[in-house]
Amino acid sequence: MLVVGAGLAATQTVAALREVGYSGHVTVLGAEGVAPYDRPPLSKHLLDHVSPAWLADEVGTDITSQADAVHLARPARGLVVTPDAVTVHTDAGDLTSDALVVATGAHAVLPGAWVGARTLHTWADAQELRTALRPGDRLVVVGAGWIGAEVAGVAARAGVDVTVVEAAAAPLAGALGARVGALTVPWYGEHGVRLLTGRTVAQVDARGVRLSDGTHLPADVVLAAVGARPATAWLGDALPREADGALRVDEGFAVLGAPGRHVRAVGDVTLRRSRRHGWVPGGHWDGALRDPAELVADLLEGDAAAAGRGDRAPYVFSTQLGHDLTLFGQPSAEDDVVLRGDPAADGGWTALWYRPGGDTISGVLTVDRPRDVGAARRLFTSATLPELARPLAADPDRPLRP
Ligand code: FAD
Repeated sequence: MLVVGAGLAATQTVAALREVGYSGHVTVLGAEGVAPYDRPPLSKHLLDHVSPAWLADEVGTDITSQADAVHLARPARGLVVTPDAVTVHTDAGDLTSDALVVATGAHAVLPGAWVGARTLHTWADAQELRTALRPGDRLVVVGAGWIGAEVAGVAARAGVDVTVVEAAAAPLAGALGARVGALTVPWYGEHGVRLLTGRTVAQVDARGVRLSDGTHLPADVVLAAVGARPATAWLGDALPREADGALRVDEGFAVLGAPGRHVRAVGDVTLRRSRRHGWVPGGHWDGALRDPAELVADLLEGDAAAAGRGDRAPYVFSTQLGHDLTLFGQPSAEDDVVLRGDPAADGGWTALWYRPGGDTISGVLTVDRPRDVGAARRLFTSATLPELARPLAADPDRPLRP
């Protein structure tokens, strides 16, 4: 078995293989030259000097003791797939196997014209950003998504002068829609962060950021936090890919369009078919953590897809600007929003997205409301999207269950 990518999804794949007693030879290829580590602390603890050993420990599995061969600095360069085998090209020679798991994750987007801008995706990126940022420095964060919001908060708390530029009408508008995203706007002011929404960046240079309307924002450090793309360029034409590079996988994580179910993908590289949620993009920790067990069950036993075991609800967590967020499900732009609790008051609040015209819930966001987290998770355990009467959902004093 060949596992390409030595991140969380790869580690969990190897652990799941051994957990179910797989005794075949397992080879892992990585690109970063370091042991697999946990990425979420890179932004939340950006300025806390977390060591690579601590981040690796967070992953919880020692990949080297479970795989037969682990090459942490031997990136895959190409792939040939036949109906019953795969061959991966590397600079140190080819590797052939009966099965392949693609777990090469994602890379941060950095527009070519943004000269000198940094990104935050790897431990090395975090180390460089931490070294560059000092109290009193001017940081411009481009993008008020999950990572941009998290970095803005920790940098401001450390005395950095932070401006966030967001092209959409509100922070997190891509994930939450502009109406719910706008509820996070006050958090920026409360942390002394300047937020400019509806503004786009024309250029980045050594002196700062030039916006499309001509405004110049002087900056010592510029962070591009404008999203990530699946790291699949190395596959060339060997497998069909989406425009953003994602690999479409079925409920058992078999790559659609591959000449056999011996080619699988998991984690940030995927666009996963879900009976309940439609097509679910990767990009979040929980998928990389939990989906490998489903992949392995389906690969070795062929039963996970049939049993629907792998239909995990999308789940994202974030700690940003002093607030704890969890998002379950996959809301879409046309859904109605029902609020539960008052975002302007203490005590937290929850937003629920409803398919238009009925009581079917597509997503739940909790903000500083831990008592709704378990209930929200339970809502998405049935085979179809949950139903909940809107007046019940809107009442913060009643439990979040049908
Ligand atoms: P990765 O962790 O990216 O691992 C893939 C590995 O494959 C990398 O080490 C890469 O170098 C390697 N690789 C790439 N190309 C090749 C190749 N050709 N050959 C061999 N190896 C290769 N998610 C949340 O839900 N909540 C959060 O709060 C959160 N915070 C985050 C904060 C940051 C700063 C970042 C960057 C991500 C965060 N995420 C969060 C996302 C989460 O960390 C990812 O979804 C998760 O790491 C995905 O795991 P993965 O194994 O699929 O990919």
